[in-house]
Amino acid sequence: DPHAVKFVYDFTEGNKDLKDLLGGKGANLAEMTKLGLPVPPGFTITTEACKVYLESGAEPVALRDEVSAHLDALESRMGKKLGQADNPLLVSVRSGAKFSMPGMMDTVLNIGLSDKSVLGLAQQAGDDRFAWDSYRRLIQMFGRTVLGVDGDLFEEALEAAKRAKKVTVDTDLEAADLKKLVTTFKKLVKKEAGRDFPQDPREQMDLAVKAVFESWNGDRAKLYRRQERIPGDLGTAVNICSMVFGNLGPDSGTGVAFTRDPASGHQGVYGDYLQNAQGEDVVAGIRNTVALAELESIDKKSYDQLMQIMETLENHYKDLCDIEFTIERGQLWMLQTRVGKRTAGAAFRIATQLVDQGLIDETEALQRVTGAQLAQLMFPRFDEHAKVDQVGRGIAASPGAAVGKAVFDSYTAVKWSRSGEKVILVRRETNPDDLDGMIAAEGILTSRGGKTSHAAVVARGMGKTCVCGAEELEVDTKRRRMTVPGGHVVEEGDLISIDGSSGKVYLGEVPVVPSPVVEYFEGRMHAGAHDAGELVEAVHRIMAFADRKRRLRVRANADNAEDALRARRFGAQGIGLCRTEHMFLGDRRELVERLILADTEAEREESLKALLPLQKQDFVELFSAMDGLPVTVRLLDPPLHEFLPDITELSVRVALAESRQEPHENELRLLQAVHRLHEQNPMLGLRGVRLGLVIPGLFTMQVRAIAEAAAERKNAKGDPRAEIMIPLVGTVQELEIVREEADQVIAEVEAATGTELKLAIGTMIELPRAALTAGQIAEAAEFFSFGTNDLTQTVWGFSRDDVEASFFTAYLEKGIFGVSPFETIDRDGVGSLVKLAAEAGRRTRPDLKLGVCGEHGGDPESVHFFHEVGLDYVSCSPFRIPVARLEAGRAAT
Ligand code: PEP
Ligand code: MG
Repeated sequence: DPHAVKFVYDFTEGNKDLKDLLGGKGANLAEMTKLGLPVPPGFTITTEACKVYLESGAEPVALRDEVSAHLDALESRMGKKLGQADNPLLVSVRSGAKFSMPGMMDTVLNIGLSDKSVLGLAQQAGDDRFAWDSYRRLIQMFGRTVLGVDGDLFEEALEAAKRAKKVTVDTDLEAADLKKLVTTFKKLVKKEAGRDFPQDPREQMDLAVKAVFESWNGDRAKLYRRQERIPGDLGTAVNICSMVFGNLGPDSGTGVAFTRDPASGHQGVYGDYLQNAQGEDVVAGIRNTVALAELESIDKKSYDQLMQIMETLENHYKDLCDIEFTIERGQLWMLQTRVGKRTAGAAFRIATQLVDQGLIDETEALQRVTGAQLAQLMFPRFDEHAKVDQVGRGIAASPGAAVGKAVFDSYTAVKWSRSGEKVILVRRETNPDDLDGMIAAEGILTSRGGKTSHAAVVARGMGKTCVCGAEELEVDTKRRRMTVPGGHVVEEGDLISIDGSSGKVYLGEVPVVPSPVVEYFEGRMHAGAHDAGELVEAVHRIMAFADRKRRLRVRANADNAEDALRARRFGAQGIGLCRTEHMFLGDRRELVERLILADTEAEREESLKALLPLQKQDFVELFSAMDGLPVTVRLLDPPLHEFLPDITELSVRVALAESRQEPHENELRLLQAVHRLHEQNPMLGLRGVRLGLVIPGLFTMQVRAIAEAAAERKNAKGDPRAEIMIPLVGTVQELEIVREEADQVIAEVEAATGTELKLAIGTMIELPRAALTAGQIAEAAEFFSFGTNDLTQTVWGFSRDDVEASFFTAYLEKGIFGVSPFETIDRDGVGSLVKLAAEAGRRTRPDLKLGVCGEHGGDPESVHFFHEVGLDYVSCSPFRIPVARLEAGRAAT
């Protein structure tokens, strides 16, 4: 049945919820059409058609006829045919995936112009110059994006034409000049692309559609998708839209607008307008625009209508929208809208503003912000009190404080950052070719372009600091330098600092200070206080929404009282993982060495006895810092060789001592121990519960320290809630043996101190076998804490310490995964083991407490997964706690 799949939708047929099929642009064009807003008629080719093309290398058979039918309908509606010689219908062909994606082919305008129809257009418009300018733009855009001709060649030819005429701006070129330029451009195409610029309008359109499909798999698009974790198989839609012209004279123009300030969230008139120009002139930041507010005096009628439409859109989408529009001889046309990108701070402010306006509720507000945005707000910023040498100010395009060495091209940015340098990428303006340089840089600085320029939009999307349009800076990319007002020259490699929140540019390194959001979490700034500021107020309210909503509790991974106290201030509801190994370092190393070297039971007991009070004191401090909240203490986990000197270093020491005939008995014993404990795969060796089973007295000493510390806190009227956790268990038998000994020690301490301790004993689930036999293990465990670091390591067979440095980049480049499984939980593999173990454990013991303490506990996507599989809490580093709270709230909406 040829009608089973529909590959083309008229703008009147779709709506904003069809983004999967029509892409973001197409869905929103349809929605605006539905709202009765002035959208030039057109239609959208679906992402399904693109997928077929990408899979089979050819358009679906039915597509051609469907496009023809829609084109016919469009032509009869417009009363003219595509490329018709005396009165041509012209269309734009624009890509539009579900997610907006710089790096994909964007737009080809003026499709339908040819050597013949350019004359018809000239006559219809009564403007020769306009027609020839439109034609040369078509050849230029088509040549570059469809036929793959180097865009600089067109730019150079255009510059040459201006030089020959002794003018500086494009608009000073006359019809005859542009006509000559068309000839030059066509020759360029022929030479570079090896074919003539197509004169058949339908061929132009079909080739452009195909180029859009293919751009989905362009290198830059792929890179962007990996960065943004956008799936590689979505495909893009293609929008074919009848042309309206912003370059028909001073009563025409084009612009972009935001319904609110995307940097602050404030309501008002934000945007840029460019008279007598076509859309790409604004986005590319090539000519300087005027503020949108000035449109009021240029064309009051269009301005008023635009304001009206912006209000309609905001109330309809209930969110900040950004808009592209064109005015053709006084008639306003909407070319695009979408829910606009915004800075992290603005996201929080806008969400609360919309709640206050009654447009959205608390639950929806939580969907309007992300943990990644909150993390961004917790970055440090420049110290206001620092002495600075400000040399320029541009547009605050994407917030943050970035310091680095100035570099003037992407290649250098990538090269230097690979060798560990922090760099700021400085460009006149950026284009999609700069993407990897932008990724590599700490921040991006441009001397041209507004808030909607490529640099600004992409940097905001990546959460990267960006200052754009710093016009008083003269950037000379060829000579790799920039001249600042007053004549000082910044050479490649000179340190500069840029502030993406204020737009200021400084010479040298400006010191940074903590963010107000961190100051707020630390309790050094209070919501409601006069100096808290809108941002802190908004964060405070959103966190309250999240805390009300979430089911997951959030604990901290913390090993000492200081971290515990900070975690508490950040909202931790306990400690989910105290790694006791730090208590074996520093001055205590010697004691640990003695324990390892002990030849006799007496020696071993002596060193354990010496360690006991030290451990106990650590726990007393930790329990008092976390008084009233659970503290999960994990018994020693790492292989013992980690506490001994390095094998090579020690060998050298011994050899030296030998050759100098100095006494070295101790070193020799140590070296023997190091050799004895040396393992090929220490992560799979003598560590975790295995240590407890083969080093007599080690775990019982730790349990005693915990129990005595708890008893001491209890007797001091504290409320210690210690939990004892056994690491790296693979079978229930291991746990049973350790448990038996531990229970005995606890009973002894209870008897000796006359207190009842109620210490829960549980285990980590961090080996595949533990997950697979979780039902049995739960017999001996009162809680499980998923150690997803080791679980990821053992499920994948990836060494967690080596993977990033060895083959990981290759895996990312080949798209085997978009993000490290050590960063975001691998749902299908590691995740299904977590789910299975959680379910099996609860079947054995319905009140089994379940948590996670691997790094994934603070990762936004993973938090959602842990919510879904029904864990009770996540545990993460203190600094990630607000992020985990927020995401736990978002997961519960
Ligand atoms: C884990 O393996 O996930 C874990 C939390 O333990 P560690 O990182 O200390 O091995
Ligand atoms: Mg582990």
